[in-house]
Amino acid sequence: MNVIYLDNNATTQVDPEVVQAMLPFYSELYGNPSSMHSFGGGVAAKIREARGNVARLIGATADEIVFTSCGTESDSTAIRAAIESYPSKRHLVTSRVEHAAIKNLFESLSKKGYRTTFVPVDRQGRLDLDYLYENLTDDTAIVSLMWGNNETGVVFPIEEISRRVKERGIVFHTDAVQTVGKIPIDLSRTGVDMLSLSGHKIHAPKGIGALYLRKGTKFAPFMIGGHQEKGRRGGTENTAAIVGLGKAAEMANMHMASGSYTEVGELRDQLENQILAQVPNTFVNGDRASRLPNTTSIAFEYVEGEAILLMLNEHGICASSGSACTSGSLEPSHVLRAMGVPFTAAHGSIRFSLSRYTTRQEIDFVLEKVPPVIARLRQMSPFWKNATLEARG
Ligand code: PLP
Repeated sequence: MNVIYLDNNATTQVDPEVVQAMLPFYSELYGNPSSMHSFGGGVAAKIREARGNVARLIGATADEIVFTSCGTESDSTAIRAAIESYPSKRHLVTSRVEHAAIKNLFESLSKKGYRTTFVPVDRQGRLDLDYLYENLTDDTAIVSLMWGNNETGVVFPIEEISRRVKERGIVFHTDAVQTVGKIPIDLSRTGVDMLSLSGHKIHAPKGIGALYLRKGTKFAPFMIGGHQEKGRRGGTENTAAIVGLGKAAEMANMHMASGSYTEVGELRDQLENQILAQVPNTFVNGDRASRLPNTTSIAFEYVEGEAILLMLNEHGICASSGSACTSGSLEPSHVLRAMGVPFTAAHGSIRFSLSRYTTRQEIDFVLEKVPPVIARLRQMSPFWKNATLEARG
């Protein structure tokens, strides 16, 4: 059975050119980039090249890029750096819809005595900007807001927000793990001090990420050890993965310039519009006017998301749901709850996330399968029966 992979916000296929670029670093090019000899020096040169490619993807300079092991490490490094650099400041700001990498860190810091503000969003997943600005104080050590949401794809106006936060003299971090490589980013036009990105969301392998650190930003390393990454992250470099990330960044730049993501957006819109037209009681979670081009979260009212996923899986279709299995009960995701999506819809929410590898034929196939799957599940759903009886009066 063919796999129709529409779960690219979970992880992406590694680009074959990325694999090719990495392979020599698992065989003949095994030198340590910190070595004095030219065998290691050759590897260091390749790391420099990768750093330049990653910097170009986000409008930064090469020495502002610190390689890490993943998006989560970049997020933790950024928040902890701000806390350590401004020890007298005890207030931290984020949103209610962040990824666990930020959400759980903030919750843990809150238990350690930091005052935390979680800025709410509206029904479309848009940030309450007035609430954000009203809650900034001289005690705020850092504001950390995601650029694009991993579940709904909603994009926050980070350029504008970061400039406003900077005007208050507060450090600004953005988790751009889902955004980098999907929409153009030019950090030179923003007030962003730190940005997190992750390789496996942009067709590089898992286990490699980067933190952008604006020149002049106060910093304290999370991983203390050798002088690697100019002392900003100790540990012998994961050379193959760094080279892979560099290649993936180069490819992402090229694909964005050639309009690949416009095509991805068109396929996403086709999928979304036709599902909405063909399946009653469905709606899109999130602001359709400001979203990542590859993501849609569709609520199918009165059905279980997990049941939909299992039935789609029988057709080889990979997607994900808006629920998280917590302590045995299926809780709708914190993102959909923060948006106020009704329980009966949050439970039946499915995220489809496309990539530049997604084809029109695949979308047509999904469109053929989704309506009968939902119809079959609704026939079995007591909630759907009640809802349709109520609608008939
Ligand atoms: N931030 C966001 C928005 C994400 O979507 C993810 C992964 O899904 C992460 C952070 C964590 O990235 P990583 O898996 O590289 O640790």
